[in-house]
Amino acid sequence: MSIKENISLIRERIEAARQKSPHPEKPVDIIAVSKFHDVSEIREAMAAGATVFGENRVQELIPKLDAFEGEGVPFHVIGHLQTNKVRQIVGRVAMIQSLDSLRLAQEIEKRAAAKEVVVPVLVQVNMAGEDQKYGLAPEEVEGFLEQFTAFPHLKCEGLMFIAPNLDNKDDLRPYFRDLYKMFLKYKDLGIPNVSMTHLSMGMSGDYEVAIEEGATMVRIGSAIFAKK
Ligand SMILES: *Cc1c(COP(=O)(O)O)cnc(C)c1O
Repeated sequence: MSIKENISLIRERIEAARQKSPHPEKPVDIIAVSKFHDVSEIREAMAAGATVFGENRVQELIPKLDAFEGEGVPFHVIGHLQTNKVRQIVGRVAMIQSLDSLRLAQEIEKRAAAKEVVVPVLVQVNMAGEDQKYGLAPEEVEGFLEQFTAFPHLKCEGLMFIAPNLDNKDDLRPYFRDLYKMFLKYKDLGIPNVSMTHLSMGMSGDYEVAIEEGATMVRIGSAIFAKK
């Protein structure tokens, strides 16, 4: 299977899952997770219709941003971001999906203010309470969103979740469903720079289930780039 064949198969599956989604009219955005894959493979995915890319490590992201400089290819940060790396990416990435602490929000605010840019972010939620995963506990999210009044250079556009790697993907439904409920609940918080536009959940192994439970954005790596 080529990258092109992989993408067209994924699109078909997404369309089928979308019919079962609570908002079937809403298109599902695909973030092509290009970590471990080089610039030529990213170009191959672009030729096959991929438009937005995700990377989880800053060291790997920077050379790719350099390679696509001036082409306006949007990259999203999807992995845990250390505060000392924020300066290198603010103003260069289209979104930070992995906002997981107040300290990180403060650092992004500081760097974005200095560059006079506004940074779109998603708040990462550790729905399954896994020790080894970053993200806010579900009960912390509302209080966190309320602090956005102090971050005029951040724009929260939704929530993000990395699901546990369970054998039976149906066992993930309660997590996806509960996050979708939070996504709906925080739609009208009345904080000017907080909206709930994107619900980023679902990866290669679980994107259909995530979409059926309300995802509007999926982050797909191996199912696109692996040439099986
Ligand atoms: C790697 C990664 C993905 C994509 O994983 P696949 O299983 O390869 O689709 C999605 N989200 C995050 C945060 C990742 O680090």
